[in-house]
Amino acid sequence: MKKPTILVSACLLGVCCRYDGESKPNADVIKLREKYVLIPICPEVDGGLPTPRTPSERVGDRVLMRDGRDVTDNYISGAEQALSKAESFSCKAAILKARSPSCGKGKIYDGSFSGKLTDRDGVCAELLSSRGISIFTEEEVGKLLEKYS
Ligand code: SF4
Repeated sequence: MKKPTILVSACLLGVCCRYDGESKPNADVIKLREKYVLIPICPEVDGGLPTPRTPSERVGDRVLMRDGRDVTDNYISGAEQALSKAESFSCKAAILKARSPSCGKGKIYDGSFSGKLTDRDGVCAELLSSRGISIFTEEEVGKLLEKYS
């Protein structure tokens, strides 16, 4: 039987695309390749930001770097590219990195650059979710398997 396709935050697969130039490989997520075709995305890099880069947070309707530079357009472009990939590959679900201003689902940093969280999605997670794609964090691999195995 053909494996279903899902979008995955590239940093969870070991790609060094995080703001600090590191990755966050997650063994449970990587193991999903046994059951799914994994389509990697990194909305921040796809949106034109370099690695490493100054960290950003959502602040109201904008996304700002810690030094105040406005990177909203990069975040929106990266999110739109992720949506386009999801549509091209018929992905019904995505596993996205928790708490990221792009990929976070439900909780992200609150815009004060102080490590505090707020109840909100990242820009990419928000767009994908609004188009009917089910979002899971790397802490919810079990839930994904329940729903899509
Ligand atoms: Fe990982 Fe998403 Fe941040 Fe890219 S934008 S480094 S995929 S959390």
